[in-house]
Parts: sequence; C-alpha cells; structure tokens
Amino acid sequence: MSKSYSPVLSIVVPLHNEAAGINQFHASLIAVLKLSGVTYEIIYCNDGSTDDTQLKIKKIAEHDRAVNIIALTRNFGKEVATTAGIEHASGAAIMMIDADGQHPVERIPDFLAAWQNGSMIVTGVRTANEHEGFVKKYGSKLFYMLLKRLSSSEVVAGTTDFRLIDQSVQIEFLRLSERRRITRGLIDWLGYQQFYISFAARERMSGTSTYSVTKLVKLAIDSFVSLSNTPLYVTAILGVIVLPISVILGIFMTFEMLIGDPLSLRITGGAFVLILILFLVGCLLMSQGILGLYLSHIHAETQNRPLYIVDAVESIKQVRSEVGAREKIS
Ligand code: UDP
Ligand code: MG
Repeated sequence: MSKSYSPVLSIVVPLHNEAAGINQFHASLIAVLKLSGVTYEIIYCNDGSTDDTQLKIKKIAEHDRAVNIIALTRNFGKEVATTAGIEHASGAAIMMIDADGQHPVERIPDFLAAWQNGSMIVTGVRTANEHEGFVKKYGSKLFYMLLKRLSSSEVVAGTTDFRLIDQSVQIEFLRLSERRRITRGLIDWLGYQQFYISFAARERMSGTSTYSVTKLVKLAIDSFVSLSNTPLYVTAILGVIVLPISVILGIFMTFEMLIGDPLSLRITGGAFVLILILFLVGCLLMSQGILGLYLSHIHAETQNRPLYIVDAVESIKQVRSEVGAREKIS
C-alpha cells in the first residue's frame, strides 16, 4: 500500500485477538515469502483486538519494512477486516490468510504458481477438519449442501478464505459495496474461473476461535440471505401449498359434518381448528421471520454507512491517521 512501488504479492491478514500466536505466525510467513523470491507486502488488519495484538504487530512492523498495519476502530468482523485489507493492497496478486496457523503458509508458493500460470482466483479447499467439533464439522457440511441448492453461483464445498486473487479481481471486488458481506461468497459471485488447491486445515496455534457456533450460524444465515432469494420464494410456495390444503380440509370437514362420520375419525371440531390455527400461525411467523431477515439486510444497506472506520494506517515508512475509510492512501 502507499508505496512508490507495487509488490508482486500482497498478503492480507485479518487479526482479532491473535497476540499469543502472531510472532510465530509472522516468522513462518516471512520464511516462506523470502524463499518464494517475489516482492511482497504484508497487511495486518487489526480488527479491534482487545489484547496486545496491536502492540505486537507494531513491534513487528518496526523491524520489517514489508509490514503495514490497518487498525480498525473496533471489531467489525473478519469479513469487513479482510475487505479493508484487500482495499489497501497494492500487489499484482492478493492473498488472504488467517493468522491462527490453520491456513498452511507453506502452500503459498502453490497459490502463486497457479496465479503465474494464469488463474485469476486461486482458492484453498479444506480437505480435513478433524480438529473441529462435531457441530462445526457437520454444520459446515449442511451449510454447503443447502447453499448448493439455494445459490445461483457455483458452490464448491470446503472452500475457504485462504485464497489468492488477481489485481483485476480486486478491482471488481471493490465495486461490491454491500455491508453484510461474506468475502468468499462475493468473490465466488464475481464468476471468474477458479483454480482449487486442497489443503488440510491445521489446529489453531494458540488462542481460541472467536467464531462461536452462534456467530457461525449467523454467518451462514447472512450467506443465504445475501446470495440467494430462494427463502423468499419458499414462503410464497408455502402459502400456495397451505391454502389449498386448508380448503380441502375445510371441504372434508363439511362432508364429515353432513354425512356423519363415515371414517370414524371422531375428530372434535375444537382440536381440528386448533391444529389448523397453529399450523397457519407457524407459517405466518416463519414467513414474517424470513421477510424480517431480508428487511434487516435492506435496512443495513440503506443506512449507507461506511463499511469500516480506520483508526490508523501504519507502515514503517509513514504513520498517518485516516478518518474515513474507503479512500486509498497515496
Ligand atoms: N478474525 C477477525 N475478526 C473477527 C474474528 C476473527 O479478524 O471478528 C480473524 C482471526 O484473527 C483469524 C481469522 O479471522 O486470523 C479467522 O478467525 P478464527 O480462527 O477465529 O475463525 P475460524 O478459523 O474458526 O473460522
Ligand atoms: Mg481459525
């Protein structure tokens, strides 16, 4: 970023409370980058960490001219932090990677090679996640299964944020302005041909994942809402199904009343009505909930707030504050 020259590779690393492992991560990253022989910059996006992360990356930046820091004013979430990093990256290729050691840095040359061979997007596909808990593992399977059915864009199971994009993809990516964002979903949406590289996700080096199951479920719901309109149609279809069913049941009941009880069902009217009402109320609540979801997305978009606020942008060459986000420093 903000350099007179542009490096070949920008590495974007979102950080949230990674103080415990950041030094080890940085050392492993540098070792690989130096060997790769390409010019590079590293952009650490401090996503409102409450531990010593900022202090540690500042120390790292003092000794490493390739390190740049974007500190956000608060925790905006990984997706936004990654976007901030991508926005400030000036490399011909931009690679995103998690700081917790789960994305193997030694595979970076493979991504580079694929890019040099002409791939615009190189995506890491996680093959093993045996270290993850039952809920995360099977939750992720279910998520991809549903997304595949609901989404119009191609969905490959296990794709991660461990990916490389070409500068031209970066330009297109930055044109997407929605607030509730899933970086990988947006990159997929751009539609470029992707090259997939399988990797086995490792265990976290230290600390714990800040993604609780609730946060992940929220992320999954956000993905569905932002990538697919199908849930909206589902309620409409539900209405179309429920309406004739209730009409048929109504006719059935009338006949039972007129002819007696030929099937000996002995359905009491009260129970029947109660179940019918419960069913319809359930449908209504569900459709209202889904409408609410979309409404909340529309609401977030119409507020038109900046995606994030940068507290400070720092590199060893310059230290300057930036009040608004979204403008590139030159
Ligand atoms: N992260 C972030 N903001 C957040 C949560 C996480 O920038 O609000 C970073 C975190 O520091 C790490 C990456 O995003 O570099 C992945 O986070 P984590 O390991 O918690 O997620 P998981 O591996 O469980 O998907
Ligand atoms: Mg992780």
